[in-house]
Amino acid sequence: MIMKIGIPRAFLYYRYSTLWETFFDELGIEYIVSPETNKEIISNGSKYAIDEACLSSKIYIGHVEWLIDKCDYILVPSISNYGEQGTVCTKFQAIYDVVRNTFRERNIKLIDYNIDLKNSEYEFKAFFKMAKALGKKKASSIRSYLIAKQAEKTSQLIELKKQEDMLKDNNIKILLIAHRYNIDDKYIGFPITNYLQRMGVTPIIGDIVNKKEALSKCESISGTLPWAFNKELVGSVAIYKDKVDGIILISSFPCGPDSLVNEIILRRVKDKPILNIMLDGQEGSAGIETRLDSFIDIIKFKGDDYSGQI
Ligand code: SF4
Repeated sequence: MIMKIGIPRAFLYYRYSTLWETFFDELGIEYIVSPETNKEIISNGSKYAIDEACLSSKIYIGHVEWLIDKCDYILVPSISNYGEQGTVCTKFQAIYDVVRNTFRERNIKLIDYNIDLKNSEYEFKAFFKMAKALGKKKASSIRSYLIAKQAEKTSQLIELKKQEDMLKDNNIKILLIAHRYNIDDKYIGFPITNYLQRMGVTPIIGDIVNKKEALSKCESISGTLPWAFNKELVGSVAIYKDKVDGIILISSFPCGPDSLVNEIILRRVKDKPILNIMLDGQEGSAGIETRLDSFIDIIKFKGDDYSGQI
């Protein structure tokens, strides 16, 4: 029987999908990606996760649960830090153990890799190790990794170019500062982007940015943040803020890192209207749509005169 890897469509999938999928394609390994988040996935995730977990990690657990009976192994990487670039929220380090313990009675089989640059656990080494565990030869894993990295780079450049073109249009432009696993999730974050587009507003995705430049620009707003992903988003505010008409901060409930970082952005960025939205996974979008309507109305009405939190 052909081995099949399950990939949860949550968390780092939104950052590494091209890398993972190309790597497995090149190795000739079959994989299945869980579907877009839906009500059932959120409800299963909430059932298995602890109450205090953030909505994004409940969604992750829900995607893992969906995959359990449909594949041989589920890919659950563990990320500790990216060295100089910073650490990550502890959820990304703990998720492997959380998943293993949550589903131990269902004999879940995981395939993992660790990224811990401070302890010389680099991405390329981690991928070679993962390929070896899947029974692949070193030469083939090196080749597959290099092709996957090139594909990842190309897809990032295409995204960036598309966004640069969008910045040139004459619509109202709003910068969305959110983790990709929140803003691109079809159930929780995507309805915001979709609604803005329906209003004729151009959404600029904060995470689509030159990451190196963003990390260095982060210093102009805060020089002490520990979390790499948040540093990229803060740097993105510095890069894009003068090219947009307003900023929307979007977090999932109850995210510790985002609540601190959003507060810093609100205090330090005074020359743009900012709206702060917390996603709680509840059904019904009327409340959020009303807030988006009034945010855009204020921008239209006040033009450049308005600044501050709305
Ligand atoms: S950064 Fe926030 S949303 Fe992301 S995993 Fe950590 S607590 Fe959850």
